[in-house]
Amino acid sequence: MQFSSVLLENAVNEFAKLPGIGKKTALRLVLHLLKQDNGSVLHFSDSIAKMRSEIKFCNRCFNVADGDICSICANSLRKQDIICVVESIRDVIAIESTQQFSGTYHVLGGIISPLDGIGPDQLHIEALVNRVEKEQTAELIFALNPNIQGDTTIYYIQKKLQPYAVNITTIARGIAFGGELEYADEMTLARSLQNRLPVEKYVSHR
Ligand SMILES: [Zn+2]
Repeated sequence: MQFSSVLLENAVNEFAKLPGIGKKTALRLVLHLLKQDNGSVLHFSDSIAKMRSEIKFCNRCFNVADGDICSICANSLRKQDIICVVESIRDVIAIESTQQFSGTYHVLGGIISPLDGIGPDQLHIEALVNRVEKEQTAELIFALNPNIQGDTTIYYIQKKLQPYAVNITTIARGIAFGGELEYADEMTLARSLQNRLPVEKYVSHR
């Protein structure tokens, strides 16, 4: 791509560093910003810079926060004795979008993956165990991706939690809603059979 302005080229190169953004899309975004007035572009760049420099992580659940404690942990209407354990902040946002969960979260910051050199010590697992002990958590719901690393992580944490009277569950796994049986892989189909539900429970959830 040939540019007649280094300023333009620099901006395009910065946008193109973002995931999923190629040079062409970057150029389109930059040209769009060029059409905006100075004030709104300043507001745009300011909010990104401010987000990066001022954002914090919740002392309790490691979700993003504006202060020491996130708005979910600080909300007395949420069930503070139910913890949903997730891998990343993206998972918190995905579950919050369903508006079906009224407990709190614990963001592990990854999952145990020896091949990638990620062990339990690099994750917020000890903090979770301490939290369950201190807060006398009633239920822990694992909402981790259904793969070997996710299962390893669940296994590891539930062993650590054995001394405590916490009810441990995982989100259901199986055929996606609207999916077709014949296209499901064997693992998914096998899990669906293992984790089958009584029909009245299944129907009442619709
Ligand atoms: Zn929190």
